[in-house]
Amino acid sequence: MRVGTISALRLSIKGGNKVNIYKRAVDRFGEESRLNLMMEEAAELIQACSKEQRGLDSNINEEIADVEIMLEQLKYCKCYDRQEIDAQHNIKVKLLEGLICR
Ligand SMILES: [Mg+2]
Repeated sequence: MRVGTISALRLSIKGGNKVNIYKRAVDRFGEESRLNLMMEEAAELIQACSKEQRGLDSNINEEIADVEIMLEQLKYCKCYDRQEIDAQHNIKVKLLEGLICR
């Protein structure tokens, strides 16, 4: 994808539209498909992290974006509990804060 195209996409996709796209992707492709793709993207990110750590060329920025997009889609799968995810998120960020403040 060319840089100009990426800049155009940054301008054209706002927060509300992204949520709509994530929800539509879950409806269109199904929750099982989203979970399978999440695993693939997580594996690609692991590989990119490994390359980064070894000082090799990596596409870590792209893979981080891919995983973020899949995580966003999982939020709209009915089989997961959004409130429980938020609660776990808050607990873990609080734990992280505790580690930082030691
Ligand atoms: Mg990827």
